[in-house]
Amino acid sequence: MEQLAELANVAARLESSRPEEILEWAFDEFGAGIAIATGFGAEGLVLIDIALGINEKPDIFFLDTEFLFPETYELRDRLEDRYGIRIRAVTGEHSSEAQERLFGPQLWEANPDLCCRLRKLEPMKEALSGLAAWVTAIRRDQSYSRASAQPVEWDHQWGLVKVNPLVRWTRERIWDYIKLKNLPYNPLHDRGYPSIGCTHCTSSVTGSEDERAGRWRGHKKTECGLHGGAAPSVVSIVSTS
Ligand code: SF4
Repeated sequence: MEQLAELANVAARLESSRPEEILEWAFDEFGAGIAIATGFGAEGLVLIDIALGINEKPDIFFLDTEFLFPETYELRDRLEDRYGIRIRAVTGEHSSEAQERLFGPQLWEANPDLCCRLRKLEPMKEALSGLAAWVTAIRRDQSYSRASAQPVEWDHQWGLVKVNPLVRWTRERIWDYIKLKNLPYNPLHDRGYPSIGCTHCTSSVTGSEDERAGRWRGHKKTECGLHGGAAPSVVSIVSTS
């Protein structure tokens, strides 16, 4: 309870702070106990660039579902070359072949929550175990479920501190930064894909649609569950399966 109140105070103090200041606070506070999670979206690229200006060797990881676009893996390689870093690939227990054998073909169609649990949520749980904090690139205006995100908050789902340095940034500001710094980005963004996840669950969007409308199109699902939201948490899925 005391920790929650303390975090709320820090969040209020950092509400108007720049992402650099939020990250500086987080790296000072958590040292080796903090990691940056990225999905290589536009926001993630900005976050990595800013973080590397403060900390030469931050721990950065991504969830390798084996179903990412070739363009996403190429972007990972370009980032590693540009910054001279390694970005950890976190994988699930089952290969895609084993998943098909154990749970049936096209699980992403038949039961996308289970597919996300196996390929994202359980690996995420493993990746965050032992950490005191993780850093995300979410923005408040990305979706309804992210609208109340704080620069620093307690992550009830995963049981550690969650740091969101870009919460106040808009999509326009993200892209201004990318262009200004000439950052590499996923070419799919130029082909109508503002939000990019797994190949099976990502489609392009039209100009009038929400930027995450192309994720799990045809399903009620809007989030994989990494940031709470509409998808069941690991705990709730495990307890009901
Ligand atoms: S986004 Fe789709 S393919 Fe990827 S883990 Fe979730 S359901 Fe499976």
